[in-house]
Amino acid sequence: TLQDRLASTFKGLRGKGRLTDADIDATTRQIRIALLEADVNLSVVKEFVAAVKERCHGEELSKALNPTQQIVKIVNEELVEILGGQTRTVRFAKTPPTVVMLAGLQGAGKTTLAGKLARWFKEEGHSPLLAACDLQRPNAVTQLQVVGERAGVHVFAPEPGNGVGDPIQVARSAVAQAEHKLYDVVIIDTAGRLGVDAEMMAQAADIKAATDPDETLFVVDAMIGQDAVNTAVAFQEGVGFDGVVLTKLDGDARGGAALSIARVVGKPIMFASSGEGLKDFDVFHPDRMASRILDMGDMLTLIEQAEKAFDQEQSQAAAAKLMAGKGEFGLDDFLGLMRQMRRMGPMSKIMGMLPGVGQMKDQVENIDEREIDRIEAIICAMTPAERADVSILNGSRRARIANGSGVEVRDVNNLVNRFVDARKMMSQMGQMMGPGAGRMMGS
Ligand code: GDP
Ligand code: MG
Repeated sequence: TLQDRLASTFKGLRGKGRLTDADIDATTRQIRIALLEADVNLSVVKEFVAAVKERCHGEELSKALNPTQQIVKIVNEELVEILGGQTRTVRFAKTPPTVVMLAGLQGAGKTTLAGKLARWFKEEGHSPLLAACDLQRPNAVTQLQVVGERAGVHVFAPEPGNGVGDPIQVARSAVAQAEHKLYDVVIIDTAGRLGVDAEMMAQAADIKAATDPDETLFVVDAMIGQDAVNTAVAFQEGVGFDGVVLTKLDGDARGGAALSIARVVGKPIMFASSGEGLKDFDVFHPDRMASRILDMGDMLTLIEQAEKAFDQEQSQAAAAKLMAGKGEFGLDDFLGLMRQMRRMGPMSKIMGMLPGVGQMKDQVENIDEREIDRIEAIICAMTPAERADVSILNGSRRARIANGSGVEVRDVNNLVNRFVDARKMMSQMGQMMGPGAGRMMGS
């Protein structure tokens, strides 16, 4: 997979002091193969690799990053660029209702998306109306009604028993009703076929012409890979659309389709769907998709923030001390590291950005920022001598510190014990990893 290949490529680069031309060639070759394997469109791959290569050659080596981090950063930035750069939001009509039409193949996830969008609009303070304009499949209307009920949103549907009905007429009437009853958003669910066909395209195009949507969204299953590009091109020609919604991102598709569509049709991806539930939905974030393609958590955000916030020398010295395990790593160093981390953002966010921690999201979210405030307060209540050598902390000193920082003595004990344990663990790790481990940690 893309992620494995990039990981092994980057592993090869680890420990190198600087990038040579040969490194750049080897890396971009791997990236090329990886993207092709991930089902990214060939022309997109070529363009991408060329851009990365050029930047690798042109870029000045950053002092704050090692070569691996630097290539990761470049690859990521180029991915984000291709994925549209900024998140694009819905354009609302000057005079309500804002009409949003969904188009795409059958099974793409339009009806499910209609419910998710409705719920999302509602949460954003709007009053949406769903319009059931898929009159092709027998159960399509009922399905939308179920979805609408779950989202707590009204559904405009043709009267039952009136025969098949005309989807174009239904769409028109839905917009008219929205105007009368003060719904400010109309979401039009349409019919799809299993394959692209002229009749379906014509129907969607007619609905579009009749309602003049503010946003026509092409809904596509991210799992269909390369086919997604062909389908997108067909819809672009047959119906025309303003934005793309990727669905089924909870599957194992790694985003090759996203990358290709965004580039080939030149339309932004606006929303992402990642499950069957109404909540499995979000505005599309190019940077997050890039991270997903790279599968490195938000490692890159971390790198960027590290560049900005980390006082590298200080952290290196502290980390080296810690890893050397001579007991010189005191609470002052600890406090310094903690404060630098904090400058990068809330602890829970920092933890969440580390690769692999994504799965432990719940625990990470439970990190209590107040607990960290308390630790700071306790350390600040200590004298420099106490911070440098916790072994001098007898009972009366601990009582004084607890008093001075507004906590219980057992909180002080807790902190000291945990600090001593952590220091012991880190120095064991440091010995295992050998000299230079401290440098690695600090960079
Ligand atoms: P439509 O034919 O385009 O209206 O597609 P539907 O909304 O009926 O969805 C087709 C199937 O895909 C349904 O079983 C949905 O529950 C499922 N589905 C839709 N979106 C997602 C998604 O993001 N993730 C997963 N796993 N399933 C989805
Ligand atoms: Mg449907």
